[in-house]
Amino acid sequence: MDFSERIFLNNLAQTTDEPYLITIERAEGIYLYSPDGKKYRDLISGIGVSNIGHRHPKVVRAIQDQLEKHLHVMVYGEFIQDTPNRLAKKLTELLPPNLNCSFLVNSGTEANEGALKLAKRFTGRTEIVSFRKSYHGSTHGSMSVSGNEVKKQAFRPLLPDVRFIDFNEPKDLSQITEHTACVIVETIQGDAGVRVPDVSYMKALRKRCDDAGALLILDEIQCGIGRTGKLFAFEHFQIVPDILTVAKAFGGGLPIGAFISDKKIMKCLTHDPMLGHITTFGGNPVCCASALATLEVITEHNLLEQVEAKGKLFEKLLKHPAIKEIRRIGLMFAIDFDSAERVNRIVLQGKALGVITYWFLSHPYSFRIAPPLTITEDEIKESCQLILQAIDNA
Ligand code: PMP
Repeated sequence: MDFSERIFLNNLAQTTDEPYLITIERAEGIYLYSPDGKKYRDLISGIGVSNIGHRHPKVVRAIQDQLEKHLHVMVYGEFIQDTPNRLAKKLTELLPPNLNCSFLVNSGTEANEGALKLAKRFTGRTEIVSFRKSYHGSTHGSMSVSGNEVKKQAFRPLLPDVRFIDFNEPKDLSQITEHTACVIVETIQGDAGVRVPDVSYMKALRKRCDDAGALLILDEIQCGIGRTGKLFAFEHFQIVPDILTVAKAFGGGLPIGAFISDKKIMKCLTHDPMLGHITTFGGNPVCCASALATLEVITEHNLLEQVEAKGKLFEKLLKHPAIKEIRRIGLMFAIDFDSAERVNRIVLQGKALGVITYWFLSHPYSFRIAPPLTITEDEIKESCQLILQAIDNA
């Protein structure tokens, strides 16, 4: 064990007994580089973050420009700062008219915490409906509405009044009632192994929420910001949420999230009592500069138009008798095999060959692929060859 590995394992808290353990020196585009000169293709974008690749030059420049002006100056919600203002304006321009007011926070889980609190305040109700196999974050509120029992049981008691229903199952929609404050749902279930719902189901869900007077929260923390080929995944379903949550790729590599709603709803957090959600670093100007540049790159460089063709190319090249099923939307894939053990061996073989794939939280028979949207055709071909070789070796 070398010196840096020893520090990492002993002096930084660990999340598993078997961390991935690649030492990173620098990153550029789809590549991660180790000090020993080894190069890895990042086919998971740092788990849904580097949608425009690592260190996109426009993002780096925007961060540098902001560093010349100011860093943190005040907690969220008090001072007027140009960069968060421009980010909020950009979001408003890109989103439907009812999503006109952004509350900027630090992470995905905080975005969902804020969204749930807002829905409770706006409706005056307490019940939350969520979905089996969902993942919404690791803090207590977000964990309470996540559907993975194994991960939750050690932390009870969690939030009361949470009801779980099956995803993409129209029969269960009757459980959304006049007691329901909100329904929180990933537009595409990510850690359940990339589950794409039917358009008719999402429309029925929207209608049921309207009929019951419940707010619809769409969690696009993993599937948003171009991942599916649309800037926001809900655009595939001809529905609009009451509250949208984003994070991960939103920040272009810096930590920032947002819950976004209508000003009429959002103003509940300002009174009775005031300061309904507060956050010191929410809307940090450096993170906002990075997020704004990321949105500009995605919307101004025709990246979205290329996503479907790139997704299809992956699908065409990833042909192997051991693959049971590929589920895909845009550049978000779950590749299914016959056992978790085989998936484990493939991911580790991939790492040895210089291609990074990864597991899902709630679906052990698959590995994920979600590469930067900027990946080139040649990079796709080379990556797929390596993945096929990893499957053979495993
Ligand atoms: N929601 C979804 C759908 C996610 O995939 C994640 C992270 N994997 C989160 C919420 C939580 O985001 P964060 O890790 O930034 O708290």
